[in-house]
Amino acid sequence: MDKEVIEQISQTVRQLCEKFPGTYWQEKDRDRAYPTEFVNALTEAGLLASLIPEEYGGAGLPLSVASAILEEIHAAGCNGAACHAQMYTMGTLLRHGNEEQRREYLPKIATGELRLQAFGVTEPTAGTDTTSISTTAIRDGDEYVINGQKVWTSRAEYSDLMILLARTTPKDQVRKRSEGLSVFLVDMRKAVGNGMTIRPIRTMINHATTEVFFDDLRIPADSLIGEEGRGFKYILTGMNAERILIASECIGDARWFIDTASDYVRDRQVFGRPIGQNQGVQFPIARSYAQTQAAKLMVEKAYSLYDAGAACGAEANMCKMLASEASWAAGEACLQSHGGFGFAEEYDVERKFRETRLYQIAPISTNLILSFLAEHELNLPRSY
Ligand SMILES: Cc1cc2nc3c(=O)[nH]c(=O)nc-3n(C[C@H](O)[C@H](O)[C@H](O)COP(=O)(O)OP(=O)(O)OC[C@H]3O[C@@H](n4cnc5c(N)ncnc54)[C@H](O)[C@@H]3O)c2cc1C
Repeated sequence: MDKEVIEQISQTVRQLCEKFPGTYWQEKDRDRAYPTEFVNALTEAGLLASLIPEEYGGAGLPLSVASAILEEIHAAGCNGAACHAQMYTMGTLLRHGNEEQRREYLPKIATGELRLQAFGVTEPTAGTDTTSISTTAIRDGDEYVINGQKVWTSRAEYSDLMILLARTTPKDQVRKRSEGLSVFLVDMRKAVGNGMTIRPIRTMINHATTEVFFDDLRIPADSLIGEEGRGFKYILTGMNAERILIASECIGDARWFIDTASDYVRDRQVFGRPIGQNQGVQFPIARSYAQTQAAKLMVEKAYSLYDAGAACGAEANMCKMLASEASWAAGEACLQSHGGFGFAEEYDVERKFRETRLYQIAPISTNLILSFLAEHELNLPRSY
């Protein structure tokens, strides 16, 4: 996409973010409260509908623009995690849903009337081994009956719809473990209290994450997305976009840490001179700057391939890994540069430090990315 368009949208995001200073996020963090005002502002500005095609009421913009939006949010000290999934979770519906489902839901998701930002894949016993999930969906006439449990289903309390992965054919009755899994679009407004229970999990960051229990939840059979049994493939196709966008958030975090650290060490006087004059203070910041620039190049490569419709699995994984490590290095340099003040809530450093740590684990952990690269790029034996 045109650099000027990206710059214009980035400018809009920066102006919007100015209305949400550190004190806003500190208060939400303290109370583990959902940043409703921030999410509403992004929705009203149409920013969360950027990836939805124009024919369904969205802006029809490429991933490069969505990437710029999330990077700017994070570079401004804000946090897109409360609503980033509203941007891309609809991709499963867009790519694999039927026209009736797309027409019914996408225009309402575009306006924000409906929120589709809950993604129920991870389970407590299966962990990263997704094909071992045990939540089941059994067809019964015009309905499916769902039983099981998800964990880390973020934003479930603030979502109207959920993309749910469940097993429709037992593992021992399929040729490959990845078969027999199906994706459903669950209307949570009807499900909660009728077989679906949501329990919030308090975590080290303000992330509105939950565990979700299914106890004979009945959903209409037309909630199925695409073909029964092919859900694992559908979920995988959405993961590249998610990884690239999360990487962009990490780049934004890294920029915030690097700017905040540089400003601080330029001003802070100890032993009668700015601490930033000491190479021991400069070098970690400079190193993280280099790491961030390199990671950003990989993000650009990944979204360029994605937007061109080319395969980008390796690049999406690599950019997520490199960007999450760059933001962590920048966070570490920023915290260390602030000395004791790095621990004070009012500086926002400790909050961003906690927030950016997540991305070495979710949506996929570093080890699993390395295993993917070893197997698929280096042709080494699969290790698990
Ligand atoms: C705040 C938060 C929000 C999240 N939001 C969502 C969400 O909205 N929807 C959703 O579905 N999930 C969500 N997740 C889940 C997230 O995707 C998983 O936590 C992540 O994929 C890791 O899975 P796990 O926690 O089960 O770890 P495990 O699979 O138990 O792994 C634990 C550790 O062991 C390592 N490991 C495991 N297997 C191997 C192996 N074969 N080789 C080398 N190392 C290995 C991993 O790298 C990891 O470091 C969220 C998680 C968090 C913490």
